[in-house]
Amino acid sequence: MRLFKKTKIVATISDKNCSIEFLKSLYEEGMDVVRLNTAHQTTEEALKVINNVRKVSSQIAILVDTKGPEIRTNAMEKAMNVAVGDIIKIKGEPGKDCTKEMICVSYKNFVQDIELNTKILIDDGILELTVIEKTKDYLSCRVENSGKIEGHKSINIPSAFIKLPSLSKKDIDFIEFAAEQNLDFIAHSFVRSAADVIAVQSILDACSSDIKIISKIENAEGVKNIDEILDISYGIMVARGDLAIEISSEKLPVVQRTLIEKAIEKRKPVIVATQMLHSMIQNPRPTRAEVNDIANALFEGTDAVMLSGETAYGKFPIESVKMMTKIIWEVESSLPDFRDTKILKLTTDVSAYLVKAAIEASSELDVKVIIADTLSGSTVRELAAYRSKNLVFAQCYDKNVARELALSFGVYAQYILPKAHHQEFINDAIKTLLTENQAHENDLIVIVAGSLGYSTGTTFIEIGEISKLLKDRD
Ligand code: PEP
Repeated sequence: MRLFKKTKIVATISDKNCSIEFLKSLYEEGMDVVRLNTAHQTTEEALKVINNVRKVSSQIAILVDTKGPEIRTNAMEKAMNVAVGDIIKIKGEPGKDCTKEMICVSYKNFVQDIELNTKILIDDGILELTVIEKTKDYLSCRVENSGKIEGHKSINIPSAFIKLPSLSKKDIDFIEFAAEQNLDFIAHSFVRSAADVIAVQSILDACSSDIKIISKIENAEGVKNIDEILDISYGIMVARGDLAIEISSEKLPVVQRTLIEKAIEKRKPVIVATQMLHSMIQNPRPTRAEVNDIANALFEGTDAVMLSGETAYGKFPIESVKMMTKIIWEVESSLPDFRDTKILKLTTDVSAYLVKAAIEASSELDVKVIIADTLSGSTVRELAAYRSKNLVFAQCYDKNVARELALSFGVYAQYILPKAHHQEFINDAIKTLLTENQAHENDLIVIVAGSLGYSTGTTFIEIGEISKLLKDRD
């Protein structure tokens, strides 16, 4: 039987390692969402993963991670070693290979957008350069620490405003492909403002697609504009790989905590990503710091934690998911009944009031499970925002919504056909809980549902013992 932990796991899967057997093991160990990193994949390669994921379970959600507006060094025949104080030249010329004399990068206006004395970081910040001369055609840079320059490595310029378009041709192709394949999430890289989200949404609209957008927050602008970004995104990812370089690592802990808090406040799912179990790419066991890092993300209330290289190409992918699940179980058992609700300000929304009452009652009365029916998923995401100790068992009238909820804390969802009367879905939900051993006959449960038809929203909460609720209705 599948484990019902509450924090969700997103695992990055490569087409080089995506057999049905492998994916099944990851799913059984606790993987909830598969991430396709399109920076390293073609649509044909992605399709191989998608087909196999679907053979394992219709409940696994699939997230497509775009390349976004990134800059990389172009191809280079041989890596070039550099020492402190060396002077190298860089220019923007897409498609032109790098030489020892001129490092060429993928962004045409690289020279124009960068000022004198700017810091340029190469290969995830491993190599630091300072711009000491700017000509019309190239920048001269001083090397600040020894290392090497190679082809296709990332370039970050933390202090510059780079006017790259939000979407590359590859991104657009992948978003259209995701719409055709009816995938679940587009995680868009380097979202800087609401405009970047709107750019993705307009492609989805043109495809009449309901795919949800997760904005990857990975630079200072994205952090600054988080409120407007959250307002129009389905959720966010704290993409710590680039974020740590762009804002500098020491700022990451506070920014991570703030982003999680803001997402919860707006009832939007949040994923904490990158290097969560990095050492397990090579080793069978994590470092103490990694275990604490995962625990910290949970204490802060994240919906999901993510694995990248650990599952995409690491030596211990199944062990990594297993380890993450073990840490999640352990930490969740120490969390409070539900989160302090001060940040969850209530509007005039009826379902928000019913949800609050349901959460408080379930804590006071030692309830085991909360059952909720939903059309759009919004009542269920409202429930998830409280990070309750009780499982939320969502009954969804839309198959896509059921899969999207794979990203929400504490929610397990099943697709159901609209019922003639709401009592029917309650009966079915209870029977599933009993068969799956998630509740027993004498457990108290809370029901948050609509009594006026499946599309008219939440109208009531009901609390009772399973045996009585079943008996009354049979
Ligand atoms: C990150 O930067 O943390 C991230 C998730 O993005 P990517 O792996 O695409 O660099």
